[in-house]
Amino acid sequence: MNDLTQCVLTPDVPTEGFAPLGVGVHRASTIVFDDAAAYAARGDRGYEGYSYGLYGTPTTRTLEAKLTALEGGAWTFLTPSGQAANALAVLPFLAAGDHILIADTAYPPMRDLAETDLRRLGVEVGFFDPLSPEDVASKMRDTTRIVWCESPGSTTMEILDLPRITAIAHDKGALVGVDNTWATPLNLKPLAHGADIVTEALTKFVSGHSDVLMGSITVGNADLIKPIRSLIGRMGVGVSPDDASLVLRGFETLGVRLRHSERVALDFARKLERHPLVEQVLHPALETFPGHAIWKRDFLGSSGVFSVVFKDTATPHVAAALDALTLFAIGASWGGTRSLAAPMSIDGFRSATAWSGPNVILRLSVGLEDEGELWADIERLLVDIEGRTKDGAGEAWRTASSRG
Ligand SMILES: *Cc1c(COP(=O)(O)O)cnc(C)c1O
Repeated sequence: MNDLTQCVLTPDVPTEGFAPLGVGVHRASTIVFDDAAAYAARGDRGYEGYSYGLYGTPTTRTLEAKLTALEGGAWTFLTPSGQAANALAVLPFLAAGDHILIADTAYPPMRDLAETDLRRLGVEVGFFDPLSPEDVASKMRDTTRIVWCESPGSTTMEILDLPRITAIAHDKGALVGVDNTWATPLNLKPLAHGADIVTEALTKFVSGHSDVLMGSITVGNADLIKPIRSLIGRMGVGVSPDDASLVLRGFETLGVRLRHSERVALDFARKLERHPLVEQVLHPALETFPGHAIWKRDFLGSSGVFSVVFKDTATPHVAAALDALTLFAIGASWGGTRSLAAPMSIDGFRSATAWSGPNVILRLSVGLEDEGELWADIERLLVDIEGRTKDGAGEAWRTASSRG
């Protein structure tokens, strides 16, 4: 064979005896077939077979299989981000004239997708009170195709009664989707509570190192595979095997990372709850939290993310005081090894319910640093807020009252 040809061809090397613990990074666009007939019949390979890199490689299939098993589902699709998973989980099931009902405290970009794009395409959009299955029942229509849930709600942590909501939705023939990013499949199994579709932002706890974006859609019923699989194909959506490999690497330590963050976050939540500057700590594992009983009934644990509502007098100073933090990084996203603090705005992100607290609350994500040093950092923040509250110094942060 000519050198130039040899440069191009991949020589056969034995793989027998090579048994690594993890799966390799299989990069491919083209997948070759034994003969022309096999190529012509490639469509028959179905969603489980390999036909083109966009539709899966052994690397991505391994991650999908891990998620399918943990969620207790029929199949999993990977998407380039958590929000892509949310969007692609609902789009296949909606047409003009259909209705989607969304939890009022769902991840804000999901709300934006519904209000901007789904409405533009003629889909009717409604929002429900996450704490009220009765509100879901009263807002169901004959045209409702999907009830979209997220429990706990983004930032304000409302716990939904998923078994009741899914029973109401199914009674009317609607599908139920659940964004399970906070809990991960280790702490909540939405499919076991009646949901049809579960999405995860793998970007957060599952990948766990703040260096990769990915999402997943797991369906509980094989009938839902084809509509999602074919739309994902038509939209040309796939994920890189390198990214999937990073998520697989992080996945191996998810259990210990999550248990650690759970323990430390709950300890911090209890301490913060007792602090005079703090009005309320929004963490479902706290006995004082309104959704605690349902959380205890349905969830298998909590995670490392919760929010702190400061007293009205302290709230205007929280943003400026964040600069006192030396260990907590300031930034969006969460679930990584590094602890994060982010001021979150509530105003403008709800329409079916009213938020009576201040417009801005502090979201904390507890990572893997030494817990004593992390708590000392939070104390620095509290002392700084206290000083600013006393002398009234600092930039006053707009604290608009609640909106309906
Ligand atoms: C972060 C997040 C997402 C989106 O994840 P990305 O990968 O950043 O798109 C979706 N849902 C929830 C609840 C999230 O917190």
